[in-house]
Amino acid sequence: MSNKKNKIIYVTIISISVISIILGVVKLALMVSKNKSDNEKLSNSINTISVKDQQNNNEMLNSVKEENEIEEKEQEMQPTFVEENKTEEEKTKKNEETVSTIRKTANNKVIVIDPGHQTKGNSEKEPIGPGATETKAKVTGGATGISTGKTEYQLNLEVALKLRDALENEGYTVIMTRTTNDVNLSNSERAQIANEAKAAAFIRIHANSVDSSSVKGVLTMCQTSNNEYNGYLASESYKLSRAVLDNFVKETGAVNKGVTRTDTMSGINWCTVPTTIVEMGFMSNAEEDELMATEEYQNKMVVGMVKGINEFLSE
Ligand SMILES: [Zn+2]
Repeated sequence: MSNKKNKIIYVTIISISVISIILGVVKLALMVSKNKSDNEKLSNSINTISVKDQQNNNEMLNSVKEENEIEEKEQEMQPTFVEENKTEEEKTKKNEETVSTIRKTANNKVIVIDPGHQTKGNSEKEPIGPGATETKAKVTGGATGISTGKTEYQLNLEVALKLRDALENEGYTVIMTRTTNDVNLSNSERAQIANEAKAAAFIRIHANSVDSSSVKGVLTMCQTSNNEYNGYLASESYKLSRAVLDNFVKETGAVNKGVTRTDTMSGINWCTVPTTIVEMGFMSNAEEDELMATEEYQNKMVVGMVKGINEFLSE
């Protein structure tokens, strides 16, 4: 190649480079000036808003902010299925926030006790949770002792009254959903008594019955975290159920049948406070049926439940 050709190529490359740089600088300058003029326009328009308008604006902004906060709170209280995507740390943090909200709104000295069932069951239907289309009997008749012939509603009331006295001795205020057997109270109505009291714990006293006469032991029940009505209460209800169950077992020596998680119970689904169902023992097992009818064993069950409630509330 000749020197002349080389020179032409060299000059061409330099020229293209210089033009590109100039174009780039011009583009940048245009962008900066556009931003500047946008900002000026914005600040001018803000300046033209009168003080009154600004006040209105602030009020509007505040109300939007409040609405957002309310929405956030509601979301916090709602069960979510997207939780799977969250890290364990986020889940724990959210859980702690929810727990502290529940604890703050609860009346820490109030316990509501529901002796399960009543003289006559009520087979009329009620929704199994707020807004549910699925319905269940308002309240069923309950079990009967295979050996004692005692009714569950009677046993539940006996133990519940002893539990009331023991909790009052501990300084709690106790509200009973019923103090006689001849009442007509649906499971959702019982839950709403606990909700209105903002109870720190709602304790539902029951006894179990199955076809097999050899099954015995105590279990407690609460909702799962996927419960569409009150899944946000699941961790608190579980802690309550666990504490009551374990202390019950320690005092009585009963077989520990664990905590059953279920979302099919109207009495749980209607709750807005931590709750547990205590299935004290099996009336279909002769030995346990006889035991539960004695003063001595009833007192042990009560001591266990009181210790469990104390433990739950002192956490
Ligand atoms: Zn029952």
